[in-house]
Amino acid sequence: MARYTGPSCRLCRREGQKLYLKGERCYTDKCAIARRGYAPGQHGQGRKKLSNYGLQLREKQKAKRFYGLLETPFRAYFEKAEKMPGITGENLLRILETRLDNVVYRMGFASSRKEARQLVRHGHFTVNGKKVDIPSFLVSVGDVIKVKEKSFSSAKFKELAEAAANVPNWVQVSFENLEGKVVALPTREDIDIPIAEHLIVELYSR
Ligand code: SF4
Repeated sequence: MARYTGPSCRLCRREGQKLYLKGERCYTDKCAIARRGYAPGQHGQGRKKLSNYGLQLREKQKAKRFYGLLETPFRAYFEKAEKMPGITGENLLRILETRLDNVVYRMGFASSRKEARQLVRHGHFTVNGKKVDIPSFLVSVGDVIKVKEKSFSSAKFKELAEAAANVPNWVQVSFENLEGKVVALPTREDIDIPIAEHLIVELYSR
């Protein structure tokens, strides 16, 4: 599937906030937002006030960038969310959160969603005992995600697992066994990304 391959920090600068796309670097003073917290480009420091449409568009772009998605799959998730019972914006975020790459990141087995996607693609994880190398795979309650046996000795996984401090309460992780279980679907309160999802719904409803 197509994906953005340009500089990650540029995306954060465009959105004017940290999107945490580069793992550990995002928490250091090397972060581009800390050093140059204005939009990239010649006119980056002189942007004018956004219209309603502009605000909606930026919110959608920000959400796509948080989860590393391009327009077509993002739109498909929105259409799926619309058909589900409940609040469309929350449904959308819940679907995005249950992508396997995001779950691997949330469980602390990768330092960024981008890295998680690469690890999934390289076949380092099983879901309920079966190898799954599709980052967009949607997990369900009760699914067990485990680092594959032959990846088990990798020092990298152990370091990451030990460093993970913010595992959300809708997953349970055993760093000893390098596995995690989805114990619930995330509620809106569980999803800590700063997105005003109603603006995305408004944009797509135009
Ligand atoms: Fe964004 Fe991380 Fe780059 Fe900072 S270091 S600008 S948070 S990707």
